[in-house]
Amino acid sequence: MKDVMSFRLLFFLAFFILFLILQKWSPHRRKTPQLRSRRLTNLGLGAFNLSLVVVFGQLTQLLSTHTPSWMEVTAGVFLLDFLAYCFHRLFHLNSFLFRFHSVHHSDASIEVTSAFRFHFGEVLVANSARILCAWALGFSYVTLFIFELVFLFFNLFEHSNFQLPQKLSGFLSFLWITPALHRKHHSILHKEMNSNFGTVFSIWDRLLRTYTPGGESEDFPMGLSKGQQERGFLKALALPFSSWRSSTDL
Ligand SMILES: [Zn+2]
Ligand SMILES: [Zn+2]
Repeated sequence: MKDVMSFRLLFFLAFFILFLILQKWSPHRRKTPQLRSRRLTNLGLGAFNLSLVVVFGQLTQLLSTHTPSWMEVTAGVFLLDFLAYCFHRLFHLNSFLFRFHSVHHSDASIEVTSAFRFHFGEVLVANSARILCAWALGFSYVTLFIFELVFLFFNLFEHSNFQLPQKLSGFLSFLWITPALHRKHHSILHKEMNSNFGTVFSIWDRLLRTYTPGGESEDFPMGLSKGQQERGFLKALALPFSSWRSSTDL
């Protein structure tokens, strides 16, 4: 268990630092509003969510410890990513759930630390559902662990404020969610915000008609409208209890 946690931490740090360097080297947006205070909020929420590791540690004990085949791992990555797509879409459709998810969208511009900007209420529901689904399908703990590494990588990658070459971005977006596609999901425009719900694969959005193409050179206002941008850590935690709107009301 200790080795698994250390590996996950090293994996996270390696890609977090890599994307921080890429953001600095080739930023998509050169100037972003109140970067320092937004980063503090994002890191604060991330640290708060870490405290839930104990809860999830208990739940993962439900899972089998067999060594999975590559078939199982591949099926696990596809199915658990599809579950994440469904939950993300549900968190936009349901006005009560969107109260919690709006914390993620309240970032006025996205960058690598936006990957941590989730309310603990959403993390608790979505992660518990993932572990219970893995248990119901008979997946091994190892399958869930590999999925979570892939999911973590894409979460950091697609929130990063770096500019990919358009050809590479277009090529990757056939199968994967890229930063340009995820920026569309953070658009202030209701129609664009309610699209590109995927995290790892873009195929779910394509198949279920929620796909909006995104170009690397495009820039547009991001976040929530109507003065709903929240930048303080405590305000972000309180946001679900002070705003009462669905993403379809915005
Ligand atoms: Zn969303
Ligand atoms: Zn996001």
